[in-house]
Amino acid sequence: MTMAELIVLLGPPGAGKGTQAKVLSQTLGLSHISSGDLFRDHLQRKTELGILAQGYMQRGELVPDNVTISMIRERMRDKDCGKGAILDGFPRTVAQAEALDQFLADSKLGTIRKGPYIKVESQVLVDRLGGRWSCRAGGHVYHEKFNPPKVAGKCDVDGTDLYQREDDKAETVKNRIRVYFEQTAPLIEYYRRKGVLAEIDGAKPIEEVTGDLLASVR
Ligand code: ADP
Ligand code: ADP
Repeated sequence: MTMAELIVLLGPPGAGKGTQAKVLSQTLGLSHISSGDLFRDHLQRKTELGILAQGYMQRGELVPDNVTISMIRERMRDKDCGKGAILDGFPRTVAQAEALDQFLADSKLGTIRKGPYIKVESQVLVDRLGGRWSCRAGGHVYHEKFNPPKVAGKCDVDGTDLYQREDDKAETVKNRIRVYFEQTAPLIEYYRRKGVLAEIDGAKPIEEVTGDLLASVR
């Protein structure tokens, strides 16, 4: 049996994980698993998990580890992940990273090939998230200045209306960045110690970052 290969995208909110995950998943033929998109989908469908997650997301806090981990474990068992997946937004705590390792060891579903860390400084993140426009249908993201859609307010891929996320307001963004430094940044060392970390300069234009990411995982 060949083991699936996982790519774990690391980096603060606004680093470009979602943008790059979309391109990488197409280019490499891997599934794209976005924890944020999964939570937003639950929220829209008003599932029990969505209702639980809502308050945390609105405040820019992390959803508790236990529910997040079970949601991702379930998603990773889907057939389309057989060849592997790009994890975007998970893990976000050391406990989540340890649970992922345990799950991979027990299930033999795959191994972590690379953990690219997309590095971007905080001031840039605020500008990026403040101008982000998202598509509900497929999780595609745009930026009003840095990556505008062909038709204002419409997704290039799905043709659906774009919206600005409630948690992309400057106030909530500040909290998300703080939470990132406290709870998620330690993962950089975690994956460095495992020997899978690759540092990527996320301040470059989108296409250049894609090139650097592809070079790092090949
Ligand atoms: P994340 O998933 O890490 O939160 P996104 O991929 O959603 O980040 O990107 C955040 C915002 O920044 C989006 O509006 C996106 O269009 C924009 N963006 C992404 N990468 C770049 C880049 N390299 N240069 C400029 N803007 C970018
Ligand atoms: P961003 O694109 O800015 O990185 P996401 O869409 O990944 O943001 O996440 C949005 C929100 O969903 C987070 O602020 C958090 O509340 C919740 N969330 C997403 N992934 C996780 C996770 N792995 N653990 C806990 N909460 C998460």
